[in-house]
Amino acid sequence: MSLSEQAYQRFVEGAKQMGSMSLPADNLTDDQRVNIARDVYISHLDSAMGMDLESCIHCGMCAEACHFYMATNDAKYTPIYKLDLMKRVYRRELSPMRWLHRLYTRDITADDLREYEELVYDSCTECGRCSMVCPMGIHIAGMVNVNRQALTAAGIGPVELTMLDHEQCESGSLFHVGKEQFLEAIENLRRQGLDVPLDNPKADVVVTTSTLDLSTTTDALAATVNIMNHTGRDWTFSSDGYECANFGMLLGDEEVQACASNKLIEAAIACEASVVITSECGHCYAALRWDAPNLYGKPLPFKVMAISEFLGNELHAGRLKLKKLDKKVVAWHDPCKVGRIGGSFQEPRDVIEAMGLDLHETESHGKTNLCCGGGAGVFLINRAADLRHKAFQIKRAEVDDTGAESLVVSCGSCRLNFENGKHKSNWDMSIESLVELVGENLDE
Ligand code: SF4
Ligand code: SF4
Repeated sequence: MSLSEQAYQRFVEGAKQMGSMSLPADNLTDDQRVNIARDVYISHLDSAMGMDLESCIHCGMCAEACHFYMATNDAKYTPIYKLDLMKRVYRRELSPMRWLHRLYTRDITADDLREYEELVYDSCTECGRCSMVCPMGIHIAGMVNVNRQALTAAGIGPVELTMLDHEQCESGSLFHVGKEQFLEAIENLRRQGLDVPLDNPKADVVVTTSTLDLSTTTDALAATVNIMNHTGRDWTFSSDGYECANFGMLLGDEEVQACASNKLIEAAIACEASVVITSECGHCYAALRWDAPNLYGKPLPFKVMAISEFLGNELHAGRLKLKKLDKKVVAWHDPCKVGRIGGSFQEPRDVIEAMGLDLHETESHGKTNLCCGGGAGVFLINRAADLRHKAFQIKRAEVDDTGAESLVVSCGSCRLNFENGKHKSNWDMSIESLVELVGENLDE
C-alpha cells in the first residue's frame, strides 16, 4: 500500500517547521568549541583510526562511490576529505611525528567546525559505500560519525537533529509522539480486532516500533502485528522499550544514543527474549545491532534482526506463508545499514519472490547499492533538500531502468525520501513497504 498523501504531507510539514526554528544560544566561545571538539576527537582516536587516516593513497575511489560526489562532481564531497579535521587533530596531538606535524599542520578552528557541519551531516548518509571500495580499507563512514560527535559536543549541528535529540533525551518522545501515543496505537489496533501482546512478562521475541510507524507509516505497524501473529512466535511489544529510532546516533550524541538503546536492551532482557526485531528503519537496526553493545559495555544476550531479515528467516522456516500475487515487475532497494553494513541481502529478495513478484535488480544493488540520499538523518535536514534530491536522482534513474511498476523498500527513511523525490520530480512510481506487502498477503 502506498503512503497516504495526507500522512506524507503531515510529516513533511512537521519536518519543515523544525527547520525554521532556532536553538537556544549555548554561550560557548569559539575557543571553547575548538577545545571541546578536539577533546572528542582525541578521546575517540585510537591507533587503528590513526593508521586509517595516514594510509590514504589519494586514489579517488571513495569519491566515485559517493552519491553526493557523483551528483555534483564537487571535490569537497570527497569522502576522505570529510575526515580532514580529525586527521589534523591526529597529526598534531597523537601521531608519533606530532613534533614535526605541528610545524606545518594547521590547528582546527571554530570556522573549520562550522564549515564541516555541511560535510558530515548534510552530505553524508553514513552509507558505507566509500568504505567498501577503499583499497586501503579505511572505514570512512564510521569516522564521519566521530566527526558528528565532535561537532555536536561543540554546539554545532543541524537544528532538526539537535531538537529531536534533545526531545528524545528529555521526554523519550520524538515529534511529540511518546509512550501515550504508543499505547493509544496499541489500543486502536485492538479495537480493529487485532490481538496485540503488550508487556508480556516473558517472550521469545520482542518487537520494536518507531515514531514513524506510530505517526505516519501506521499501516506498517498493523502489518507487523498481523505478521507476528501469523508466524505463531511467542512475541510482545514492551511499553518500557518500544522506540527504536535513535536521534542520539544520528546527531552524534553518545549519551542520548546509549539512553535510547539501553531502554530496548533492558526491556528485552526483562522478557528473556532471544530476538529483538527492529521495525522498518535502517539506522534503528544499526544503532541496536552494532553500537548498542559498545555503549552498554557488554555483548547483548539476544540477537538483533531487522524485520526484513526476520521475514526471510520465517519464510525459510516455513512459518511465513504468502499468497502469490499477479506477476508484476518490482525493484527492491537495499537499505544501506541493513544490507551493505548488516549483510542481509537475500532474505527480502526471497520474500519478494515468494509472493510471485518479478524482481528486477537496479544496476547497483546488494553490496554496491547506491543510497537513496536520505539516510542518517539527512532526510530531515531542510537545508540539505537540493543536494539530497540531486543524489536521489541517480537512484531514481536506476529504478526507472528496471522497468518496475513499483519500488519495494524496508526502511521508513528511504521510503519517505523516495516519496519526497516522487513529489519533487513528478515521478510516477509506487513506493511500497515490504512489511505492508507481506501483511496484506499472508496465506492464512
Ligand atoms: S558514507 Fe556514503 S554518503 Fe558518506 S561519504 Fe561515504 S559514500 Fe558518501
Ligand atoms: S578510496 Fe581510500 S585510499 Fe582512495 S582516496 Fe578514498 S580514502 Fe583514500
